[in-house]
Amino acid sequence: MSEEGPTGVDTGAAADAAILAVIVPVTAFQQNCSVLWCPQTMKGAVVDPGGDLDRILAAAGEHKVEIEKILITHGHIDHAGNAAELAEQLDVPIEGPHPEDAFWIEMMSQQGEQFDLEGARPFEPARWLAHGDSVAFGNVTMAVLHCPGHTPGHVVFHHADAKLAIVGDVLFQGSIGRTDFPRGDHAALIHSITTRLWPLGGDTAFVPGHGQMSNFAAERESNPFVSDAALQGSAN
Ligand SMILES: [Zn+2]
Ligand SMILES: [Zn+2]
Repeated sequence: MSEEGPTGVDTGAAADAAILAVIVPVTAFQQNCSVLWCPQTMKGAVVDPGGDLDRILAAAGEHKVEIEKILITHGHIDHAGNAAELAEQLDVPIEGPHPEDAFWIEMMSQQGEQFDLEGARPFEPARWLAHGDSVAFGNVTMAVLHCPGHTPGHVVFHHADAKLAIVGDVLFQGSIGRTDFPRGDHAALIHSITTRLWPLGGDTAFVPGHGQMSNFAAERESNPFVSDAALQGSAN
């Protein structure tokens, strides 16, 4: 498995893997954009093209992936800022996030000015996502989990057979998403993590929106915000 940055997804031998992935950290926020693809058809999806489209397209080209759609976890600029531009360039649809993040996407130009990121534009996804939906590219299907808290319309993409989740800014190695933004909700975030992510199984590897990969067992063991011990101590 090759990698583009400090993190890489090892989904097993390419010949029999269900899904392949490469991570491309983008923007000044080092956001983990993922290029995911089906090894049988070489058709794929770009998750969270926040910026640096040249680097995302170079990674897809290097692996000979034909991008057929864009998936968005949530409406923050480092994740979705260049989605409109990429959709236009490749003539592919955008799917996600959940409609509760529409207000963030509508503010994309202001987010761009605030953080000095070029080319940030609002967009209307071809498809808004809801909990229980699935998304597909090539022969790959991933489940959609609505995980509010960091933003109200945040979604996570999960591949059951590969035991892989793309969790955006819900959970990080050793930390959790910020909840001090408009409509952030700390209790909702903890609830999302414990009721929607933990049931996927401890051996599920996850690509966080920023930083290194981890798995749910490791976070339940040692994450200071959501370890079993930490949550026991908070009594709810
Ligand atoms: Zn975010
Ligand atoms: Zn982020």
